[in-house]
Amino acid sequence: MTEALIIGAGVAGPVLAIALQRVGIDAHVYERSPSGADLRGAWLNFQANGMDALRAVDAAGPLQDLGYPNDTISFITGHGKKLGRIPMAAPRRDGQLSVMMRRADLYRELNTLAAARGARYHYGKEFVSATTASDGRVQAQFADGSTATGDLLIGCDGIHSTVRRVLDPAARASRYVPVLNVGGYLPDFTVDVPPREFRMQFGTRCFFAWFPTPDGGTVWFANPPMAHEPERGALSDMTDAEWRKWLHQLMSGDAGPAHDIIDAAPGPMVGWATYDLPVVKRWHNHRNQIIIGDAAHATAPSAGQGASMSVEDAVILAQCLRDCPDTPTAFTTFESLRRRRVEKIVRHGHRSANSKAAGPVGRLLRDLILPLVFRQAAKNGGRSMMWLQGHHIDFDKAIQPVSA
Ligand SMILES: Cc1cc2nc3c(=O)[nH]c(=O)nc-3n(C[C@H](O)[C@H](O)[C@H](O)COP(=O)(O)OP(=O)(O)OC[C@H]3O[C@@H](n4cnc5c(N)ncnc54)[C@H](O)[C@@H]3O)c2cc1C
Repeated sequence: MTEALIIGAGVAGPVLAIALQRVGIDAHVYERSPSGADLRGAWLNFQANGMDALRAVDAAGPLQDLGYPNDTISFITGHGKKLGRIPMAAPRRDGQLSVMMRRADLYRELNTLAAARGARYHYGKEFVSATTASDGRVQAQFADGSTATGDLLIGCDGIHSTVRRVLDPAARASRYVPVLNVGGYLPDFTVDVPPREFRMQFGTRCFFAWFPTPDGGTVWFANPPMAHEPERGALSDMTDAEWRKWLHQLMSGDAGPAHDIIDAAPGPMVGWATYDLPVVKRWHNHRNQIIIGDAAHATAPSAGQGASMSVEDAVILAQCLRDCPDTPTAFTTFESLRRRRVEKIVRHGHRSANSKAAGPVGRLLRDLILPLVFRQAAKNGGRSMMWLQGHHIDFDKAIQPVSA
């Protein structure tokens, strides 16, 4: 049986293991952390196309009730002026909505399901390099000196991927996105927003968002602008009190519940810098190594699509490996099916992140232009975003191979 070595147990890793099992490929997952993935970014919006891709490999079940469905976004200015109210996407035929969930829950459920479907997990294994074994297969080397040999090596090791560097030592590093991220969940804190609606505020100095959960709580996040990448450790050195003070300063004079949220948020507050990856030239080596998910095309969190893209990648790669005559053809076919879509999303995420970090002139223009954009989007019922959230995968449909 073909054996795949999957590096990383975040989102792409476990879904790939599940999808490979469906096409008769044995999966071993190697994760560097001792017990599970890095859980930065307490909450994420898992969009309808990601859920669709999970459904393609019968893996959506455990996630359906994990979080809070949402279907609308409304935008206001710092002064509380309404900029627009738009559907998250046009209604899909299957009725699937985006679901706001804890990142830890998403990781846990996907990895539990992959293990239950037969994937073998190896924690505390930091991938460092790959070579060709004497039998021509690929050999992965880990920081503890151990090795593993398989027919395929698939890097699902996230935005700072080591597999990407091994494939192409000249690969560009990730690009800093000029807004930070901080947020979380407040139980027993209600906001005056209709159910399933995300309210987002282009504040005078900071982007701030809040979302009411049906159990009487609120999910929130803020994107403090920061033009230059913070030095290593600078954010983790900030105390809870410093975060709160800074957020209050940034939101000073702005309307809305931001100050109450900042005061009520359970501590300690933790914030992080964010990155994207515009174009990664080399996704595979035409032989037996490939990268997918954030390792190949990370998008700024503002797109709300990174996890969904990783799931789509994992499912489509498994289809390619099933339907193509050999691995190089499968990799070429996968890239031809995915590159355009994911790079478009990275551009979309970058534009969206930059609009949150606009200076005074940019803000003025943004507040003039956005109502027109939102009016148009509301008029077409979110159909302009169907290319994104309307994506559908029919797992049983054969993929047409593209020659390597
Ligand atoms: C603040 C923030 C907010 C976000 N919000 C959203 C959102 O709302 N919606 C959305 O869809 N996406 C969001 N994202 C993006 C989303 O989290 C990622 O796109 C998604 O997690 C990518 O999945 P992945 O499996 O490719 O990588 P990851 O989830 O990063 O997983 C990579 C795994 O590989 C492991 N690893 C790394 N290096 C090695 C190594 N050398 N050896 C072994 N293991 C290794 C890591 O420990 C990790 O477990 C957000 C991201 C951030 C930072």
